[in-house]
Amino acid sequence: MAEETGSDDDSPREACGVVGVYAPGRAVAHMNYLGLYALQHRGQESAGIAVSDGSTITVVKDMGLVSNVFDDRTLAGLQGHLGIGQTRYSTTGSSSWRNAQPVYRGMPQREFALGHNGNLTNTEALAAEIGMLPGLVASDSDLIAEMLGLEIVKVDEGSSDGRELERSLVKVLPRLEGAFSLVLMDEAHVIGVRDPNGFRPLCLGKLDNGWVLASETPALDIIGAHFVRELEPGEMIIIDATGHRSVYPFPPERIDPTLCLFEFVYFARPDTQLYKQSVHHARVRMGEQLATQAPVDADIVMGVPESGIPAAEGYARASGIPYAQGLVKNRYIGRTFIAPTQELRSLGVRMKLNPLRDTIEGNRLIVVDDSIVRGTTTRAMVKMLREAGAREVHMRISSPPYRWPCFYGMDTGSRSELLAANLTVEEIKDYLGVDSLSYLSLDRLIEATGAVNAGFCTACLTGEYPIAIPESLSKNVLEVAAPRAPESTNALFDTVSAEMPNHARAGDD
Ligand code: SF4
Repeated sequence: MAEETGSDDDSPREACGVVGVYAPGRAVAHMNYLGLYALQHRGQESAGIAVSDGSTITVVKDMGLVSNVFDDRTLAGLQGHLGIGQTRYSTTGSSSWRNAQPVYRGMPQREFALGHNGNLTNTEALAAEIGMLPGLVASDSDLIAEMLGLEIVKVDEGSSDGRELERSLVKVLPRLEGAFSLVLMDEAHVIGVRDPNGFRPLCLGKLDNGWVLASETPALDIIGAHFVRELEPGEMIIIDATGHRSVYPFPPERIDPTLCLFEFVYFARPDTQLYKQSVHHARVRMGEQLATQAPVDADIVMGVPESGIPAAEGYARASGIPYAQGLVKNRYIGRTFIAPTQELRSLGVRMKLNPLRDTIEGNRLIVVDDSIVRGTTTRAMVKMLREAGAREVHMRISSPPYRWPCFYGMDTGSRSELLAANLTVEEIKDYLGVDSLSYLSLDRLIEATGAVNAGFCTACLTGEYPIAIPESLSKNVLEVAAPRAPESTNALFDTVSAEMPNHARAGDD
């Protein structure tokens, strides 16, 4: 549960948004800025843009939202006709300026910059392979840059033909495992890469005189580019003065499309197109499926703003029960609200959501949300609805129980923090204090996407990871909370909540 421009502790956090623009004669830095602005929901910790005028790359990056990092003055200093941008929420590597992207490397042969969305699963093994000391890898993105740099310096300076970055990628990419949608640039090329599973989205758009790469299609709209297509899993696209061409550097047996299913459920903007489907309409269909699967007699259907609303509309339409707005979201709350104590955190939900008493009082409510990850915000919201006079609260979730951590670029915490990994649905119902609780089945969810045969990662729902997770990543993370008696669940999760790492607590904003 969260809105598209923020996140909270009941939702996994998206890792990053990336954009790349090749447009001679245009204000490329401003276009990257606009693209990042449209992708702000994918990461709110840092933002950066790199541009080239054909001879030098200039990078500006800092901690903060896109609008905090850039203003007219900083953008004016970024002159060039090609550029890339990245907005980040850290999943590997600490949350510090050092890890803000684009990552830059300058060698005598070539300069380049890189923006990454996703998480590698073999960072540790690769770091050992290239002889980096344990603990010296700032992030998986930094490691990719290091590997590319090592390939580029092998080229004899005098024999440069300007395509060193492309050739280095062809050598390095097959060694990477996990999730990586990349945008890269040198002085003359913008390059996009999608991993062989296509975990994270990446699309191509066309301008009158150039090309755009972006994590999601609304970034193309805001720049004024026409959507051309999504990059294929395993595709590398090179854009330069001659147009664009594609290279496929991965062995065919590694191509296995498994787009993150949660892009459809929650992460992507509703106005995004994925697998040729409208995400908004898919979410409405999820609600319709939910109404068919888990009907209940009630007076109104309401959605939890913002991401639960399309599914609530679908539920209302399919059930014939009227839709009403029951919660008002504070639109201006950002990630800066970090409550230091449990007591203040429990007040946090009131800063985000406030009930509309007129809608709620005396009514039996069907409350639709997209997912429950840790459950603390949902529980506080249910309490609030009861206090506002709800007669009954029936919770309907437009995805299956979220039981397994994500290793492909979402920050969900460990299994011990995931409500559904530790409690049965009946126990969750009691923990949340609702009259009934139903989750949409996986089959119905996939049917609702409209892309039944396209291929999805469902690991956080099923535990079936498309790419094996090495023990170094999974140890401590896959353990559930200690065994407990069902009646002690409230105490258990108060404890879990209190033990959350600081970065997870920050999500209480
Ligand atoms: S584990 Fe879940 S959140 Fe992560 S990529 Fe797979 S479907 Fe998406």
